Amino acid sequence: MSLRTGACRVYRGRFAPSPTGLLHAGSLVAALASWLDARAHGGQWLVRIEDHDQGRCVSGAGQAILGQLQALGLQADEAPSWQSQRQALYTDALQRLVESGWAYGCDCTRKSIADALAAQALEKPRHGELVYPGTCRQRHLLPSQARAWRLRSSADLSGTQDLTLSWQDRRLGAQQQNVTQAVGDFVLRRADGLWAYQLCVVVDDAEQGITDVVRGEDLADNTPRQIRLQQLLGLPGLRYLHTPLVMGPNGEKLSKQNGARALELEDPLMALQRAGALLGLPRLPGTTTADWLAAAVTAWTELQLRRPGGAPL
Ligand code: GLU
Repeated sequence: MSLRTGACRVYRGRFAPSPTGLLHAGSLVAALASWLDARAHGGQWLVRIEDHDQGRCVSGAGQAILGQLQALGLQADEAPSWQSQRQALYTDALQRLVESGWAYGCDCTRKSIADALAAQALEKPRHGELVYPGTCRQRHLLPSQARAWRLRSSADLSGTQDLTLSWQDRRLGAQQQNVTQAVGDFVLRRADGLWAYQLCVVVDDAEQGITDVVRGEDLADNTPRQIRLQQLLGLPGLRYLHTPLVMGPNGEKLSKQNGARALELEDPLMALQRAGALLGLPRLPGTTTADWLAAAVTAWTELQLRRPGGAPL
């Protein structure tokens, strides 16, 4: 049994870790789910090391993650790609958004943004970030004056209508976000010259022919920004499945930031079994990772077909 229908684009999935540390129990769940989903669809699975923000990357972590995936038996179908080598693609995409009027230059500092929000009594931190008050939206700064580049979050270029996007997540169901209110005009290129995750991920997924994004639920609320960029750049839409998060002992999402321990791979089979249990897979036979993974593809297929609306591509 397979989730393949043959009617649509060939399934291409990816796992896109940021090399800010080694894989841990939480990131393995996303890696395993994206691998299983690709295999269950008879599709391809790629690994992209998201090292566009060199300041946050840990030296050697990208290679170490590739070693961990290999030890787990999560084999990719192509050589891994590295975002740090793809800068020209991001420059080109930004250029197109500037030319169409959707991206604009901004010379605000964190302090000037906070002051402008305070003046409007609009102190609204969102995940610790401030929703941009729109100071530079109509200033038409020249590239030489811009520190950062932002995307207009409104539905229209004149900024009179809010943009509300709806999408279907394969696990979370129907989702909706008013991007204008919830996020505001978001950064595409930062004042320090670094590319923003939103732009890189959209450009890379399209350039690599990705059809399906399977990743952790903590990234779900980035999806509408990415859909918006796809629309404005004329790129194909993707299917999304956001996987459950692993919680740490403090009740927070397990992450490198809150000290998640790197996966110890003396027993890769047990690491896979634990990640599989979190994904809702039953206990599966298999004394090797290869046997377990083969059984897991079948179990994953059954799990997806049982979901409401769990039809294949
Ligand atoms: N690099 C991102 C992370 O490790 C994931 C990007 C994605 O899957 O869209 O959190």
